[in-house]
Formats: sequence, structure tokens, C-alpha cells
Amino acid sequence: MFKKKYAIFTMDVEAFTDTECVAYSKENVDIDLLDGFDEYIKILDENNIKCTMFTVGNLAPKIYDKLQRCIINGHELALHNYEHIPPAKIETETFKKNLVKTKKELSQMFNAEISGFRAPFFSIDRQHLDIIKEIGFKYDSSHLDFLAARHTVNLKINDFEKISKNIYSNGNFFEFGLPIYKMFGFPYPISGGGYIRLGNWPFIKTLIKQYLQKNDYYVFYLHPFELTKQQIPVLKGLKLYDKFYLRYGIKNYAKHIKQLIAILKKLGYSFVTFDELTNKLLKKKSEF
Ligand SMILES: [Zn+2]
Repeated sequence: MFKKKYAIFTMDVEAFTDTECVAYSKENVDIDLLDGFDEYIKILDENNIKCTMFTVGNLAPKIYDKLQRCIINGHELALHNYEHIPPAKIETETFKKNLVKTKKELSQMFNAEISGFRAPFFSIDRQHLDIIKEIGFKYDSSHLDFLAARHTVNLKINDFEKISKNIYSNGNFFEFGLPIYKMFGFPYPISGGGYIRLGNWPFIKTLIKQYLQKNDYYVFYLHPFELTKQQIPVLKGLKLYDKFYLRYGIKNYAKHIKQLIAILKKLGYSFVTFDELTNKLLKKKSEF
């Protein structure tokens, strides 16, 4: 346990067309809905919160100005793979080669250190995690202990040291997992994205509050389209759940995020980026 409580606000910076059901739909979608990126940053800036932006490598050059402005304002640039594909499905040598290249190119392009990684779909296994560590990332934030999610795989990190609930270390490398609420033994992710947006907010809010009172680490994440003010295109041939996923709760999400921030503040949480938390933990380690 820490002396302080930490909350990390993150964003998986990807275009609407990176959303799996949109990518696989047979329709030609040419809208990115990245206005939601600006909406999220606006809410965070109003609350003086710096976020960790896990950005898809091939999207970053296309939104250079947006990202650079945020980096200058203290938000952290991190990677959400080089393309929006689940690492666990990529052959390891290909993954390593492309990730090394993208990390280097984006560090130079933005003149920023890239120390963190989050896998699309939280799809990380031990082999791919070891590569992330090996090529110089300081941390990963892909561990979602919820195997019901699509593409989630069993990540074996039994040999890592447990630092706090959902935080693990291996040498100077950290795995920052996403919080899960256990309801009568059944896990429910309470870290954002669809898990918060699609649920019944008064109920989810109660779960989060209970979790926050007992713990000292919380992570929130979302995708830009979830805060868009544009019209979500109607795509034919989508499954009923995917139609629901793409639309439900978007109108009220900003309001709920603001309430969540107020709850965190009331409970004494400090807002940091993952890079800042990593540096705090490394400093603490060196004191022993
Ligand atoms: Zn993603």
C-alpha cells in the first residue's frame, strides 16, 4: 500500500475506424470522431489533470499538432501498438521489429520519451510483455484480469513482485493493471471505456466509490469516439451488441467523468501520469 492514493487518467488514442466492429464492417467509414479527444483533454485541463495518451503508432503523425500541443502542456505520450491489432496475435519477431521502429520514430518526431505501452484490446501475453520490457519501455498497462473480454489472454506474471493491488514490478519494469471490482466473486472492470459508459451509472458509481475507499490506485481509460459530439454513422450489418456499444451512453459520458473526478478528489486521490508514477516507484525502490 502507498502513503498516498493515485489516479491515472488515460486515453487509448485511436480513430473511430480502429474500433473493431467498425474496422470489420463492410461499409466505407471515413470519419475519425477525434473531436472526442479534444473534449476529454478539455475536461482534464479544467481539473489540472495530466493524462497518459496511449496512441496508435500509425495515427500519431496524422494528429501531430493535437498530440504535440498536449505534450507541451504536460500530458504524456505512450504507445498503443504500431497498428490497432492485438499483440498476442502478432508473431513475436514482427512485433519487436515494428515496435522498436515506431518507438524510435515517434520519440524523434515529438521530441518526447516514450516509456509506456498499452496493448489494443488489453491483449498481452508473457512473450509479448517480455519484448516490451526488452526494447526499453519502463512500463506496460495492459493487464485486465477479465477473460470474458474479446482478445484478452491469460497473462502470467507470477514471478513479478506485487507493489499494490494491480501494480506489479519485475526489476525496474512495471505492469500497471486495470482495476476490477469483485461482486460476489464475479469480476467487473471499473476502469472506463464501455465498462462504465454502458452500465447503469448510479450502480457503477457505487461500485467505484467502494473500490476507491478500500484501495490506493485507480486507472480510467476511454476512446475518443466515446466523447464525440458528432453523429455516429449508422453502419449496416452490425450485431445488436455492437450497435449498442457504439452509441449508448455517449451523451452523458462527459458528465459522468466529471462526477468521477469529483469523487476521486473528495477521497484524496492525487492525479499523475503513468510516467510520473513509475518515477515515484523507482525512487522509492532505490531508497531501500
Ligand atoms: Zn484500442
